[in-house]
Amino acid sequence: MLLELQDIHVIFQRGWLRKRRGAHAVAGVSLALEEKGILALVGESGCGKTTLGRVALGLLRPTSGKVLYEGKDIWGRGGKGLRPTGQTVYQDSYSALNPVRTVYQTLAPPLRRYGTPRKRLREETKKLLEFVGIMPPDYFLNKYPYHLSGGMRQRLVFARAIIPKPKLIVADEPVSMIDASLRLSILDLMLRLNRELGIAFLYITHDLATARYFAQAGRIAVMYLGAIVEEGRMEEVLERPLHPYLRALLSAAPIPDPELARKRELMPLREAEPPSAEHPPPGCRFHPRCPYAQEICAREIPPLRDFGDGHRVACHLVETLPPWRLT
Ligand code: SF4
Repeated sequence: MLLELQDIHVIFQRGWLRKRRGAHAVAGVSLALEEKGILALVGESGCGKTTLGRVALGLLRPTSGKVLYEGKDIWGRGGKGLRPTGQTVYQDSYSALNPVRTVYQTLAPPLRRYGTPRKRLREETKKLLEFVGIMPPDYFLNKYPYHLSGGMRQRLVFARAIIPKPKLIVADEPVSMIDASLRLSILDLMLRLNRELGIAFLYITHDLATARYFAQAGRIAVMYLGAIVEEGRMEEVLERPLHPYLRALLSAAPIPDPELARKRELMPLREAEPPSAEHPPPGCRFHPRCPYAQEICAREIPPLRDFGDGHRVACHLVETLPPWRLT
């Protein structure tokens, strides 16, 4: 396994509130990502997915739990100083790039640092631009970030990210600030990096449609208020969603066919807004909004149970829920 997160908790405590309970941003998450694998981490804003991405790359030390990278505990005694050979790509490519550096000045220094001889720098930069689809490379070498479209800038960020030959990229909403027409081409670029360079991806998003496209052959983990509520192979989970939260997300996802959209029933939630992570509800964190909640739900935290083929769900009442149908 490339990366294993074992029972990760992250609690953010603020100033004079230190001695009180802080925001429990990640609450007991266990996930695994195999070498060259793809895992889509899906959830609404503020559910803790970005925090978990930072933990996965060793950028943030969890309050408790283990981060194993190639079997080594990166925060344990044997793994001190060890960090995953990974890179992060965020949604805002503009702030990820230095506005006073040209494309060449952005890529040449890291290429030099990772062993490219000085006289081959121009050649290698052009190869890299071609590889990520910034064409023609000669035309773009001396352009500044503000000359590039959002899609081109994100390609440049990916070009820089692959220079150290990472085994893992944490891509945090990489296409959410890009025009809808260009999103698929960036996801295709990421699939190419996965296929041809063997880079594993943790793809963080709030958008089920792009998660489905990118991680079609991989896995999906659905996060709600700091906890994983459902996880498994993408195909299996979206064909047979079991957790009420995922069912609610799917029933609210846009459908291109207006006829079907009119006919389908939205799953009604008891409350529209999620509770705050600083004061999470006891028991199942989804219970104040869940239309199926019963007394046990407010009392006991549901464990993640395996329903076959690695399809894990954290819900007390899976066996008694109505069968899933989208329309
Ligand atoms: Fe709903 Fe209860 Fe299942 Fe939570 S455990 S999702 S409240 S039915």
